[in-house]
Amino acid sequence: MSKNEPQAMTPEQFHEKFPTVMEINKGCVKNYACPHCGSRGPFSIKVVAFVELADDVGFSLPYQLEETDAPALCLDCDSEDPCLIIDGLDEFLAKLAK
Ligand SMILES: [Zn+2]
Repeated sequence: MSKNEPQAMTPEQFHEKFPTVMEINKGCVKNYACPHCGSRGPFSIKVVAFVELADDVGFSLPYQLEETDAPALCLDCDSEDPCLIIDGLDEFLAKLAK
């Protein structure tokens, strides 16, 4: 396993390590979690953006973002390890919350 390849974690292991984290994600970071601090986001991700470059105004805001498989990084801690995608994490936490 390479240094940048995150360790897999089950929902049970995540809950054991971060028992107070009960935040449930339902959108585009569903099942994402930081393996170091337990953050459920937001995360930062490196993307490639296309912008318009014009003579009179310079760069415009991005008009197109390219799909990326870059890792999501935690904004809450200084970890450089990518956040994990833990299959079933949000379903698991939702059951605990009932
Ligand atoms: Zn973190």
